[in-house]
Amino acid sequence: MKYALLDRGDSLSRELAEQFHKLARERGLISNPGSPDLIVSIGGDGTLLQAFHSFSDRVQDVAFVGVHTGHLGFYADWKKTELEELVTLIATSEPQKVSYPLLRIQVVTDTETKSYLALNEFTLKRPGGTLVAQLNINDEPFEMFRGDGIVVSTPSGSTGYNKSVHGAIIHPSLEALQIAELASINNRVYRTLGSSAILPKHHHCDIVTDPSDDLALLIDHLTLRFQGVRSIICSVADDKIHFARYRPFPFWNRVRNAFIGSPKEITGQNFPKKKFTGLDDAGEEK
Ligand code: NAP
Repeated sequence: MKYALLDRGDSLSRELAEQFHKLARERGLISNPGSPDLIVSIGGDGTLLQAFHSFSDRVQDVAFVGVHTGHLGFYADWKKTELEELVTLIATSEPQKVSYPLLRIQVVTDTETKSYLALNEFTLKRPGGTLVAQLNINDEPFEMFRGDGIVVSTPSGSTGYNKSVHGAIIHPSLEALQIAELASINNRVYRTLGSSAILPKHHHCDIVTDPSDDLALLIDHLTLRFQGVRSIICSVADDKIHFARYRPFPFWNRVRNAFIGSPKEITGQNFPKKKFTGLDDAGEEK
């Protein structure tokens, strides 16, 4: 098993990275950042986003696993105290591969079309002022948008920026993309849906912009500046990201823990623990 490791760069993550390499050496794992089978990210969900973009050209051939140095994350499921258990499992067991949909973003300018993948979302903004854009769904005009921006997220990104702008949370086993608005202006000329819209895999949306606009395209944690953009086509990517699961990491538990609290806090009593009988295709407990 060849692995690559990325850490957040803070002292705790670096210390854990050193520990990981030592434990891995002792168990016969090979550090091979150039051609890994497994990408280990130590830090947080933001670190896993960086790891994803470092290997996005090989996303079909690698699997990711994340160690969180703070509270449990959405992508990083292992705690810093569980490093030894994780390395032992990597060295001795075959993980289940759980795949999540990605977003394909094609930026069409007068001279070229550039293509990107996002794990969380793509956000379009116009830093110089209000964004004015026509949104087409499946090549048909849908609405004229005027406002702060448009967020197009993946199912696993639906708990990120999308949630802060009141988008719905989508289970990552659903192949879909979600369009959410950032402070849209609604009047007689500009009228938007006003709620988020979820498109299935076989649909796409185009955001048609004025080529003279100076635009900011935010792809996960990355910000790109563009001029001369005619349209931006968003669709569910054919590629998916694969996670190596060595134990269950149920999505709705993550959502509950991140945004609501544990069941004990909700009801004042413990829920009976379900007996673990394996994982389904989406990496959820059966
Ligand atoms: P950041 O501003 O340093 O951190 C954003 C926060 O979002 C971090 O707490 C991060 O978790 C968390 N996060 C990342 N992906 C998530 C997901 N899929 N579900 C729930 N929480 C998630 O930026 P960053 O670390 O570079 O991450 C970029 C992401 O930040 C973007 O993709 C976007 O989703 C999110 N963002 C949110 C807002 C907002 O809510 N208003 C605005 C801009 C960007 P960790 O602490 O574990 O890293």
